Amino acid sequence: MSLTQKTAIVTGSTSGIGLGVVRELARAGANVVLNSFTNSDEDHALAEGISAEFGVTARYIQADMSDGAACRGLIAQAGACDILVNNAGIQHVAPIEEFPVDKWDAIIAINMNSTFHTMAAALPMMRAAGWGRVVNIASAHGLTASPYKAAYVAAKHGVVGMTKTVALETAEEAITCNAICPGYVLTPLVEAQIPNTMKEYNLSREDVVKNVLLQRQPSKEFATVEQIGGTTVFLCSDAADQITGTTLSMDGGWTAL
Ligand code: NAD
Repeated sequence: MSLTQKTAIVTGSTSGIGLGVVRELARAGANVVLNSFTNSDEDHALAEGISAEFGVTARYIQADMSDGAACRGLIAQAGACDILVNNAGIQHVAPIEEFPVDKWDAIIAINMNSTFHTMAAALPMMRAAGWGRVVNIASAHGLTASPYKAAYVAAKHGVVGMTKTVALETAEEAITCNAICPGYVLTPLVEAQIPNTMKEYNLSREDVVKNVLLQRQPSKEFATVEQIGGTTVFLCSDAADQITGTTLSMDGGWTAL
């Protein structure tokens, strides 16, 4: 699969799934734009490393995905957007009556509203180019719920709904819009939760992984960032031309339960 000459923008791509997606898109030949809300030397060095490793153009653009104008600014500053991957996301866990309002607002803004703003800004560019791919990184929580995750589940269900709507609005054009719904993926974010849970419940690492984190994932295996990246590349391929408005679960059977 060659994505040479395509420009891909991946929001929230300095670590975890976003970085994995950037790497697989670059491996397939796409020029990539990395993004996060920080603006450090490491952020720019990360892009330079991708460029050197895969022989593509890689840029880092700072933009805070909690700010709608900044979301639209990211697309404008990139100057081209053939492939848009909405990946930036955060999590907070609390019962609804104790859920901090600022956390609710941040999760809805970063995990859901950013997707609205970037798609609205990118679609005219895709239309002008006569081709486009939108891949929204939703979650198993875009299809099903867990307690204490009101904001995250609301935001991810919203992303799935928006994905279907944009797919219908672009159905007669060479543009597709789909969502990938991962179960648990072993990113730095998830890895960081393991030591605390081991301590709190006096469990081994293996018990935490199998019986806490992967309790609802029948395969008892994490999906990998490379797999999420590979599926993104597939959705950008000609084979996926007629796949639009759908959700692709990568959850080891979680949502089949
Ligand atoms: P991560 O924390 O490793 O990466 C999140 C990225 O988003 C980072 O690059 C971070 O800098 C960036 N980010 C955070 N706030 C931002 C902001 N305001 N503006 C711009 N960038 C911002 O997390 P991850 O596990 O790789 O998650 C990535 C996406 O995948 C999220 O949308 C998450 O909901 C989704 N997801 C993750 C899992 C999982 O198990 N890890 C499962 C399903 C879905």
